[in-house]
Amino acid sequence: MAAYPEMPCQELVELITEYLEGTLSEVDRLRFEQHLADCRHCRTYLLQMRQTIHALGKLPEETIPDEVKSELLQAFRDWKARGRQP
Ligand SMILES: [Zn+2]
Repeated sequence: MAAYPEMPCQELVELITEYLEGTLSEVDRLRFEQHLADCRHCRTYLLQMRQTIHALGKLPEETIPDEVKSELLQAFRDWKARGRQP
């Protein structure tokens, strides 16, 4: 497997709208889905995005405010840090 470089959470967050719009390149889409398979935090995030889109009936204009994005990435770091320490 892992034919492509691993996509970090940060990149996934940045590409999520393109993924949902179906405008990602084939390679990035595969990397995206590969990351999703391994990262339940990003699966949760994708689910939340889908719910937001469903509620709005479209992709949000301002995809993700920067402060939300940095909170999210901080949360990812916390999850990973906790995962490393038993
Ligand atoms: Zn992730």
